[in-house]
Amino acid sequence: GVDISKELELAEKALRDGDRYSIAQLITLFEDSRPVAFDKRDAVIRFFQESGRSHRATFSGITGTPGAGKSTLVGELALRFAAADAKVRVAVLAVDPSSEVSGGSLLGDRTRVRFPVDEHRLYFRSQASDRELGGISRTTFSVCRLLYHLFDHVLIETVGIGQNEIEVQHIADRVYLVLQPLAGDQIQFMKAGIMEIPDAFVINKSDQTEPARKTYYSLKASLGFVRPGEDHLPIFRVSALTGLGLDDLSADMQANRHRLLAADAGGVRSDAELYRKEVFYFEKWVRDEYGRHGLRRLVAMGGSGNYMDQHGGFDLARRQFAQLF
Ligand code: GDP
Repeated sequence: GVDISKELELAEKALRDGDRYSIAQLITLFEDSRPVAFDKRDAVIRFFQESGRSHRATFSGITGTPGAGKSTLVGELALRFAAADAKVRVAVLAVDPSSEVSGGSLLGDRTRVRFPVDEHRLYFRSQASDRELGGISRTTFSVCRLLYHLFDHVLIETVGIGQNEIEVQHIADRVYLVLQPLAGDQIQFMKAGIMEIPDAFVINKSDQTEPARKTYYSLKASLGFVRPGEDHLPIFRVSALTGLGLDDLSADMQANRHRLLAADAGGVRSDAELYRKEVFYFEKWVRDEYGRHGLRRLVAMGGSGNYMDQHGGFDLARRQFAQLF
């Protein structure tokens, strides 16, 4: 067998102390595509499940165009989230466009979230997104499986280009689209397929009062077309810079977390929810890795859920499936 004593030690320290170094080491393990990592991840996940101390995170997705102020906003929200409850641990996972996508410095020098070094309840990590596979990095979900056990809430920040903003809905429990005031056009709102996804909208930089007001009414009008009948879609007007509206937005996030927890008698909901996501990402992995041919084989063997159950879950099923090729 594989020696997993080091990983279990890291898992214990990460869980007990929120130790950043241990968390970083574990994330590296959850990003690792080598076969040996599959067994180790499986052991780590089992350790968390059996410990009875899993935090069972809820997930918010924050997406939007570059420059809208997502990084600034996400940092502020994480701080507020942690300040509201002395027991919660909050992580930010920022999925950045890889350099080919950004074409260099424009996105390369985005504001980074910086948390106080001694605050072990807050954690920040960035990942490069995956261009060929469309959107969110192929390891984003794997890392979320880890963060699920270590944190109470995870903010997943994705740049709204390409598939990111569409895909984040499959990881997050609630998706927020961040917009910034622009000279009154509706075009930014009509981008194909994007407006259908968010559970809530955020107009950041509302310290720019007049453009923000125009943007708000323009957004309302667009939503009337794109999502008729959904009259109560929340639109938050905030400023990550001045703090305007941030308490309301943060309260919305916390309320959603509490709704999920209330529905979560004994952890049943969140585990079922995570399982559903695992099935989705297992199938996505098969499609990305082996195309239609892979999917056909998967179907012939009873489908993704069945296959995962028979082969011991997300990671072991992937390792097993890879051996067929
Ligand atoms: P991201 O690319 O969406 O992550 O955007 P950033 O967080 O890097 O912010 C882009 C720029 O907008 C930075 O110069 C921020 O200082 C600025 N910014 C962020 N939030 C606000 C805000 O609420 N009001 C104003 N006026 N500027 C903001």
